[in-house]
Amino acid sequence: MEMYIDPHIHLVSRTTDDYEAMRKAGIVATIEPAFWLGQPRTEVGSFKDYFSTLVGWERFRASQFGIVHYCTMGLNSKEANNVPLAEQVMELLPLYAGKEGVVAIGEIGYDDQTEAEDRFYRLQLELAKDVNLPVLIHTPHRDKKKGTTRSMDVAEEHGMDPGWVVVDHNNEETVKEVLDRGFWAAFTIYPHTKMGSERMVEIVKQYGPERIIVNSAADWGISDPLAVPKTANLMRKKGIPEKHVRLTTYQNALAVFGLSGQMHEDDWLKAPPIDQTKKLGGNSVLRGGQVPRVEGPADRVEN
Ligand SMILES: [Zn+2]
Repeated sequence: MEMYIDPHIHLVSRTTDDYEAMRKAGIVATIEPAFWLGQPRTEVGSFKDYFSTLVGWERFRASQFGIVHYCTMGLNSKEANNVPLAEQVMELLPLYAGKEGVVAIGEIGYDDQTEAEDRFYRLQLELAKDVNLPVLIHTPHRDKKKGTTRSMDVAEEHGMDPGWVVVDHNNEETVKEVLDRGFWAAFTIYPHTKMGSERMVEIVKQYGPERIIVNSAADWGISDPLAVPKTANLMRKKGIPEKHVRLTTYQNALAVFGLSGQMHEDDWLKAPPIDQTKKLGGNSVLRGGQVPRVEGPADRVEN
């Protein structure tokens, strides 16, 4: 059975059906970047509880479906524009950056490319260096080419090693420069859009598999938590070698986020069997008399 990593997915907005389908499709590990929630937060406490959910309940919930959950910590670029609140969030971040399962500072960067966004992006690049974590960059959807170039310029200005930086949400216009400059180039597969699986296959054909990473960025919007395995299957169908499929949908993500020292293949290869009788803080994923799924050693698929 193939194994996949989805290195960018906002699982707090997904259902247990999604978790079951993801595991069935071969997703063994996920990374959930800290981001905004569709409407701006008004209190620093909302950030604090959100960050706690990423390292707490969501990590536990994933484990109940056989998926290892990691996250990134950061102040997203949209909410960087609320400067008084952003300053308070910056005070929280060092504490959360050091928690178990945190594999990068992110997703950070530019949205509208304002002065405030620039200020908090730079502060978080410095934080990443202080805590020795890789960086996940969110590139803007408007004025993408310019914003992507600027994100890399500023990362270099702060002395970031490009081998520690993942530039996300690439397209055909940005990929060449990102790879030429030595950064990792991640691609989000959005269903029913220009950056769909078909175009992804063409990019891997043209540029090869080195430093290219596929993700779903699935969240509360129209998105597909199975985008990674679906794209992998399309690559195979279109004749892309298995080794290249594995690099772009598994190995590359592990290589760069593994630099954190928080993510190891053994985390899923040697994971304990699913045990839904477990609770976190007295809470379980089960409702009203449901029978817990408990895997014995015989249920495990040996690799
Ligand atoms: Zn995201």
